[in-house]
Amino acid sequence: MPPFDENKEKKIILSAYSDLLRSCRSNTTVAERKQIRKAFEMAADAHKEMRRKSGEPYILHPLAVAKIVSKELGLGTTSIIAALLHDVVEDTDISLKDLEMEFGKTVAKIVDGLTKISEFSEQTVSKQAENFKKMLLTMADDVRVVLIKIADRLHNMRTLGSMAKEKQLKICSETSYVYAPLAHRLGLFNIKSELEDLSLKYTQPEIYKDIEMKLADSKKARDRFIRYVTDPVKKQLDQMGFSYQIKARMKSVYSIRQKIIKQNISFDQVYDIFAIRIILDAPIDTEKADCLRVYSLITDLYTPNPKRTRDWITVPKSNGYESIHTTVMTPKGRWVEVQIRSKRMDEVAEKGLAAHWKYKDTGAAAADRAFEDWLNKVRQVLEDPSPNALEFIDDFKTNLFAHDIFVFTPKGDLITMPQGTTALDFAFEIHTQIGMKCIGAKINHKLVPLSHVLHTGDQVEILTSNIQEPSYDWLNFVKTHRAKSNIKNFLKEKAQELSTRGHEKLLAILRQLKVEMDEHLLLFLQNRLGTTTTLEFYQKLSEGQITPEDIKKSIKQRGKNKKEISTKATENFEAFINSNKGVNDDLLVLDDTISRLEYRLASCCHPIPGDNIFGFIGTDYIEVHRVNCDHAPSLLAKFGYKVVKSKWGSSQEILFLVGIRVEGIDEIGIIQGITKVVTSDFKINMRSMKIFSHDGTFDGTIFLYAKDTSIINQIIRKLMQVKGVHHAERVDAEEM
Ligand code: MN
Repeated sequence: MPPFDENKEKKIILSAYSDLLRSCRSNTTVAERKQIRKAFEMAADAHKEMRRKSGEPYILHPLAVAKIVSKELGLGTTSIIAALLHDVVEDTDISLKDLEMEFGKTVAKIVDGLTKISEFSEQTVSKQAENFKKMLLTMADDVRVVLIKIADRLHNMRTLGSMAKEKQLKICSETSYVYAPLAHRLGLFNIKSELEDLSLKYTQPEIYKDIEMKLADSKKARDRFIRYVTDPVKKQLDQMGFSYQIKARMKSVYSIRQKIIKQNISFDQVYDIFAIRIILDAPIDTEKADCLRVYSLITDLYTPNPKRTRDWITVPKSNGYESIHTTVMTPKGRWVEVQIRSKRMDEVAEKGLAAHWKYKDTGAAAADRAFEDWLNKVRQVLEDPSPNALEFIDDFKTNLFAHDIFVFTPKGDLITMPQGTTALDFAFEIHTQIGMKCIGAKINHKLVPLSHVLHTGDQVEILTSNIQEPSYDWLNFVKTHRAKSNIKNFLKEKAQELSTRGHEKLLAILRQLKVEMDEHLLLFLQNRLGTTTTLEFYQKLSEGQITPEDIKKSIKQRGKNKKEISTKATENFEAFINSNKGVNDDLLVLDDTISRLEYRLASCCHPIPGDNIFGFIGTDYIEVHRVNCDHAPSLLAKFGYKVVKSKWGSSQEILFLVGIRVEGIDEIGIIQGITKVVTSDFKINMRSMKIFSHDGTFDGTIFLYAKDTSIINQIIRKLMQVKGVHHAERVDAEEM
């Protein structure tokens, strides 16, 4: 590194500082600028020995972040000061107390929030999720924290070139996972596009350069075409006396790339590389009417595609975005998107909610309400004490990043819901009790089931019944956080209640019979009466599917047939079974020659072909268990005489449900890696997958349909080779 020229550096720093002042001059007072100067001096002094990776003085970073905050986000003095000081608490001796004393509570609180959102030290999916959750928590407190954090990230992305390659990739992955979607959701369209472009530039430099070059090559022709389309429009607008601006809005490199991938087309086939934007200088009380007049003018000149016309002015997007979009056919046979909006709407679209606040009391109420509603939903999701950060992110993404649809109540009230939501979600949205009692819905006056997926424009009437209550399968189709958490809570309470009642009922019966209650007895009854878990046993007992008579009979049987086999002797069950031939010397062969009615596969261990098995002779059928089934010891100990040696025939062509438990280190792409093994390498249908993640590790269970054990063993071997997977094993079905 060359020696530092102190004077030259001072000049650079001061010029960056006056740049910042210039950006906020028009909306700050002299006193406020004095505070900004004080913050700058404090930060410059605190960071004076520090340098960035590029070698430049560290203070240039907070200065740049403050400028983004002021110029690109349009935020005021408090945010500028917090941006200047955003790294001092973490990196220098200055404490939050100092900041509070010098600049007041608000600045200290914002810097505190910024410090708490830790940087990507360990980049696991769950850490990111944890971080994201923290960020949202601080956002519910003060949105400025997140806005400054986004500005901080933007500057780091702009200066990413001097970082090591590996670090670049980590930062980019976090940017596209968290920051770009968040910026989008906050309506910061420009920043979102820049973040995405920068991520692409560093993660896939060749692809980025290629598109950038093609854009440059086609620029001349494009400019000609834009003039050709806009000249007649300008003429008319002038005649009508509008004051306006026409811009050609380029699609970002990232979104061109997305389109090429998604639609599997070439660069030349992307027809909407740019849009024409008409921005009217119109007063707020005529802005909508003016925009509609311009829309009418455009569609007189060019034929619109009715499927691609959107009025976001009458109903703004939930991030506050307002505009009319239409795609028209030009005489040269090319489609062009035209966006029409007022200057105010344009500022909101570019600067997001920051600009939004500026116009808060000017009467643009619709957009305001949409954003408030969204923030309220953020709070709702945050208030749920869900312990699992990954589940939380899933929820958050489907509920708050999803594209919105608009549906109506029978009275015509407009309700915004995430895409893909069902009639039942809608019921919960209206009121929790309406959701709980929902039995169906009428959509546009036609009867539909609860799981019916809603579309924009649907009018939804919910049908309820007082005897209705939530059931487990509701969880299979509801999408919103609100519906899910209400249903889960109900089911949890209900299961608890049933289980308690069942337990009491059992104790009463046993008292009558003068039989001691113990764990062996419980397990015996559980098995004997065809239930898998204690919870299920108690539930069935309290609901009457298992009667006191059943229990009395079972206990009598138990006493009569008790045949002592010491538990010790059964410790090696495999050996025991192999030596024990049961009541007869027959070998039960499970194949096509015996009907499936005559035997059942035990629901406790889900045997599949290839497993070592034994048959347990019941009254109506033979129950087939795996020899290493958890229940085997007690069955063998108590009913050895009822056991029959069994094996699989060869002609089984049935698929069995199997669980595989996987453990390992939580890395990005781990889920894809696992799914790939099952679905592409083995071409097997996965029924479901549950993954839980904690502190950088994860464990999960995959449920899939397989023909026999050999295939399962192959899959397990292959899973162990996936990077990040430490252990994989077949599991019993208790958790299924
Ligand atoms: Mn920073």
